[in-house]
Amino acid sequence: MKLDYTAFVRSAPGKFIAGKTGLPQPTDLPRFADRPQPVLGPVLVLGTSQAAEELAAQLLEWDGDVRRHADDLDKIGTIVVVLDEISAPGDTGPTIRDMPGAFKKMKLGGRVVTVSRTANSDDPHVNAARAGVEGFVRTLAKEARYGTTANGILVDDGVSLRDPSVIGALRFFVSAKSAFVTGQTLRVSAEGGGLPAVWEAHLQGRTVLVTGAARGIGAAIARTLVRDGAKVIILDVPGAGSALSDLANEIGAIPLQMDITAENAGERIVDELTKRDLTLDAFVHNAGITRDKYFANMDEDRWNSVIDVNIAAQLRINDALLASDRLGDDFRLVSLASTSGVAGNAGQANYAYSKSAVMGMVAALAPILAERGGTANAVAPGFIETEMTKKIPPMQREIFRRSNSLKQGGLPLDVAETISFLCSLPAGGYVGQTLRVCGQNLVGR
Ligand code: NAD
Repeated sequence: MKLDYTAFVRSAPGKFIAGKTGLPQPTDLPRFADRPQPVLGPVLVLGTSQAAEELAAQLLEWDGDVRRHADDLDKIGTIVVVLDEISAPGDTGPTIRDMPGAFKKMKLGGRVVTVSRTANSDDPHVNAARAGVEGFVRTLAKEARYGTTANGILVDDGVSLRDPSVIGALRFFVSAKSAFVTGQTLRVSAEGGGLPAVWEAHLQGRTVLVTGAARGIGAAIARTLVRDGAKVIILDVPGAGSALSDLANEIGAIPLQMDITAENAGERIVDELTKRDLTLDAFVHNAGITRDKYFANMDEDRWNSVIDVNIAAQLRINDALLASDRLGDDFRLVSLASTSGVAGNAGQANYAYSKSAVMGMVAALAPILAERGGTANAVAPGFIETEMTKKIPPMQREIFRRSNSLKQGGLPLDVAETISFLCSLPAGGYVGQTLRVCGQNLVGR
C-alpha cells in the first residue's frame, strides 16, 4: 500500500497523532491560481523612513488596505518592514517593537518582507545593523506557521528604494507566486530594468527560450511564461519530441528539437532565431540530468555526462549567443542551479559540481551582460516533485521532502514563477545571484 504522508496528517486521527508527537504538518500552500491578488491584505508597513512611506503608497496601489500600525487588526496578510536607515543595531527598536504581536496574527499564506540596505558598509556599526536583518528574516521564516513566508530585499547604497528592481522584488515576495520561497534574500545591486506596462502580463512583448522544456520544471516554466505574456521557444532532445510538440500545441510555443550537448548547439539556436527573425529577451537554461553514485564508485562517463549537459553545454551556448546579434536590450539569462550545488549532497559529486559551476557562471556572466543592459542569475530549487526526484528511494525522498521550513516538496510551478519573475523587465538590478526555491531547505553549508 502506498503511504501518503500529507493525506495521513490531514486526516482526523493523523492530525491528532502528529499533534501529540510533533510530526511535521504541512500547510496546503495557496498558489497564484488560488490567490491572484497582488498582495494579501491587510498590509502592515512598519518603518520610520521616507522609503517606508513611499513603499506603503506603492502597496496601496496594489491593495486598498494598507496600515502603518497594527493596533486594531485581528488578522494580517502581509507585513513589510522597512529598515533602510538603520546605522546601529539599536535603531531597529522603534520599528520592530510592535511586530511580535502582529506576527502572531498572520493569515494562511501570509507574507513578511524586510527591505534594508546590503551589509557592505565599511563602518562596523552600520554593517552590524544591516547584517542583523538577514539573521532576523531567516529566523522569522523558521518560526512562521500556516504557509507564511519571510524574505528580505537587500538594496545596495546608491540604489533608490523606488528602483524597478526593488518594486519588482517586493511584488514577487508579497504575492502568492513566491509560495515556496522563504528564508531568502535578494540583493538589488544595480539600478536598471523598468516597470512592466501591465503587471498581470509582465512578459508581454518578450521572447524567451527554455531548454529541457518537454516535461517537469521546464514544461511548467514554459506554461508560466506563456501565461505571463511571453512568446516562448521550447527546446528538448529529439527523444522527447512528441511531448515537446504536444506542449507546443497546448500553449502556442515554438518547438525546437535539439541536444544541447551538440558542439554546434549554440550556432544552431542562433540560426533558428535568425531564420525566424527573432531576438531573445531571456534564455532559461533548464535542461539538466542526474547520474548519482557515491564518489568512490563514480566512473568517468557518469561524471562527464552530467558536467556536459548541466554546465559545459550552457557555456558553449552562451558564447554563441553573445557572439550573435540575437540578444535584445534588457536580456535576462536564468540558469537552474540546485541546493545540492549550494551545500553538496551525498551521491551527487558530479551534479553538485555542475550546479555550483552554474552559480559561478552567472556571477561572471552578469557583469558582461550588464554592458548591454542585461543580467544573469540562477535559481536553486530544493526538493521539487518531478520525475527527477521520483528516482530517489522512498524513505530518503520523504526525509528530503520534510527537511524545510514549509515541511513539503515544492511544485514545478514554484520554480517556474521565480523564473518568470527573473526573466521580467524589473529584474535588471539582480546581478549574478542565486535565488533558492526550497521552502528554506535545511541544507547547511
Ligand atoms: P526532468 O528530468 O524531469 O526534465 C529535464 C528535461 O531536460 C527533460 O525533458 C530532458 O529530456 C531534458 N534534457 C536532458 N538532457 C538534455 C539535453 N542534452 N538537451 C536538451 N534537453 C535535455 O528534470 P526536472 O526535475 O524538471 O529538472 C529541471 C532542472 O531543474 C534541471 O536542471 C535540474 O537539475 C534542476 N533541479 C531540479 C530539482 C528537482 O527537485 N526536480 C531540484 C534542483 C534542481
